[in-house]
Amino acid sequence: DYGVAPEDTKIVDQWLADHQDGFGHFIDGAFTAVGQTFDVSNPATGAKIARVTQGTDADVDAAVAAARKAQPKWAKLSGHERAKYLYAMARHVQQHARFLAVLETIDNGKPIRETRDIDIPLVARHFYHHAGWAEILADEFPNAEPVGVCGQVIPWNFPLLMLAWKIAPALAAGNTVVLKPAEYTPLTALAFAQIAAECGLPKGVLNIVTGDGATGAAIAGHDGVDKVAFTGSTEVGRIIREQTAGSGKGLTLELGGKSPFIVFADADLDAAVEGVVDAIWFNQGQVCCAGSRILVAESVAPKFESLLKTRMAKLRVGDPLDKNTDMGAIVDPVQRARIAELVEQGRATGVDVHQATAPDGCFYAPTLITGVDPASPLWSEEIFGPVVTMTTFRTVDDALALANNSRYGLAASVWSENINLCLDTAAKVKAGVVWINATNLFDAAAGFGGYRESGYGREGGREGMLAYLKTPLAKQGKAEPTP
Ligand code: NAD
Repeated sequence: DYGVAPEDTKIVDQWLADHQDGFGHFIDGAFTAVGQTFDVSNPATGAKIARVTQGTDADVDAAVAAARKAQPKWAKLSGHERAKYLYAMARHVQQHARFLAVLETIDNGKPIRETRDIDIPLVARHFYHHAGWAEILADEFPNAEPVGVCGQVIPWNFPLLMLAWKIAPALAAGNTVVLKPAEYTPLTALAFAQIAAECGLPKGVLNIVTGDGATGAAIAGHDGVDKVAFTGSTEVGRIIREQTAGSGKGLTLELGGKSPFIVFADADLDAAVEGVVDAIWFNQGQVCCAGSRILVAESVAPKFESLLKTRMAKLRVGDPLDKNTDMGAIVDPVQRARIAELVEQGRATGVDVHQATAPDGCFYAPTLITGVDPASPLWSEEIFGPVVTMTTFRTVDDALALANNSRYGLAASVWSENINLCLDTAAKVKAGVVWINATNLFDAAAGFGGYRESGYGREGGREGMLAYLKTPLAKQGKAEPTP
């Protein structure tokens, strides 16, 4: 167990100082000149930490051209040769783990305990896993071909992990990539570009273009892009769906959620309370699959609520670089204001708002809201912050009806000591992933994705690989249902 050693922050400070004139894009194996820039801040302190280039249409053209040029050669390499690069990237991520963890924490505001123990290890794991897919691709999917050039746009909540989810399967399958990180959190993607270069990844295979929504739209709409993969808000997902409709481009979307967290009367309530901590206060609740709607059996609700409030009051909110911190900063003041506005709108309708404490600045206190009418936006809208709403149910059918009454369907969590009840409920909840007596478990080998307005397509595992391949599966008698 280690916190942040002074030398870790020193390396990050030095790296940022070396780039004080700004960062260019990473195109065709090299960093471009710095163009018109925007500022990147540390949300915990408000300090400006870097200047990053706003990607223009011309930058996107150059990145797509580089990816297109590199693609045939990359696809022609044997799976084993491509795997060597993916293994190398996994190892280099591990070698630079402390640097990447500190950089991610400074850029995003999430606690070092999470970047150190969750984000960065999962990034490495994703590259190792997909190196394995590159090795066995020809056997698993004979006659399959890569899709071509993939345009990928990612959000700010798990910056480097979302990059790994996007590029590892794409590259394993023989595609080349143009990726845009979110404007709040572009720094670990740029550091990763350096890592890719260090690993000798052939030029043009991975291109990183920084910028805002306009840059993302230029990538998604580019004629030279064969497939678009997007993670972010349902609103932008809808725009991209309309933009790409009829274009012949492949599309996978991983969007929002409002995931139910169902606690039956016989659940281990202490364990379920810890589950809530993980479900909604992990990453300040800025998690697409956050368990943001608690449904608790009426008979145990008072006890559960009391345990939960006691636990909530003990959460330590503050300096993300302190290893004892449970919850860090919200990614940006704009997001913080959005969370506060939704809560205050709810408060005005007479719900009960219970809050722990948080420091001033871009922090938001862990919040539990009870007495919510299921017709209220607090119950149905994604808040994307450390705010959980709670209601009660009497029967299993009530619980299922409440759980499924949502426009989303990304994840769910079911708590009971009766495994038959758990399995039966899990099968009836409409969600891409259902955890039993657990929450927020991710693995590179398991397909992750949603139903309904949570998007479509799966990332991870076999299904995730299929999203990056053109496969004559039906001919092989191996057709798999599209989720
Ligand atoms: P967003 O959807 O606006 O941004 C996500 C990414 O899409 C960013 O890289 C952004 O630059 C890019 N983008 C924006 N407009 C685009 C366009 N027209 N075409 C292509 N790319 C575009 O999300 P946000 O503003 O960062 O967050 C808003 C809300 O989205 C959050 O409050 C939350 O509800 C949701 N969200 C969900 C996830 C998730 O993992 N499902 C992640 C982040 C945010």
